[in-house]
Amino acid sequence: MSIYEIYALKYAGPFVRTGAHLMWYRDWEKTEKINYYIWCIKGADETVIVDAGVTPQLAGKRELHGYVNPVDVLARINIRADDVRHVVITHMHFDHAGGVSLFPRATFYIQEDEYRFWLENPVAGRPPFRYVSDTASNAYLASLEGTDRLVLLRGDQQILPGIQCLLSPGHTVALQTVAMNTARGKAILGSDCAHVFRNYTEDWPSCLIVDLVGWMQTYDKLRELVASADLLFPGHDRRLLENYPQVAKDITRLV
Ligand SMILES: [Zn+2]
Repeated sequence: MSIYEIYALKYAGPFVRTGAHLMWYRDWEKTEKINYYIWCIKGADETVIVDAGVTPQLAGKRELHGYVNPVDVLARINIRADDVRHVVITHMHFDHAGGVSLFPRATFYIQEDEYRFWLENPVAGRPPFRYVSDTASNAYLASLEGTDRLVLLRGDQQILPGIQCLLSPGHTVALQTVAMNTARGKAILGSDCAHVFRNYTEDWPSCLIVDLVGWMQTYDKLRELVASADLLFPGHDRRLLENYPQVAKDITRLV
């Protein structure tokens, strides 16, 4: 059986967010610091990057505090972005898909429904959706359609031995999470299925919702699959950096 280690790599932040951003419709008076991350799943034979971060151009446009090019962050653990073969895009918000062009030889794995929504549904061009997406990176992905560098997934699918993409809607139309076998059993990189650990522990999603009913059902699905609750990881929690062994600057080993 293929066993993987999981690393969290911070590429921007910290950012201050209101509590009501992180916990839907509550904690209005609180604030909390979060980070932007990509993740690395490392096995004996394969390395998979989860999410692509943001290009320097986009980081400038969005004025991302504390930004470091994900290419340089990966280099700290001896991964050359040019050599990366597999990149899972959990969803097409700019902070997750905005760096696809940094991986010129990678195959990208995206849920087809997520991809079609952002590329083809006119609603994706409306202000609240435009605000959280990046047309340049979406166009880059579109330029790969029909080639073997873009794999459009339909529902739960294994992409490599021991690594499965799971349809996990709620935050976006067809966000996918990534499950893998680790030394401690099945773990899931949940990306923005939760912004912080509290979303899972308190059963309460963030404010960025396209389907709250679907989101709660996604929580049931993911909890059922992980070997233990602490192996279900959120997308933006600063604790991903603070509570795990550091292996290089701004990089921790989660499992
Ligand atoms: Zn995000």
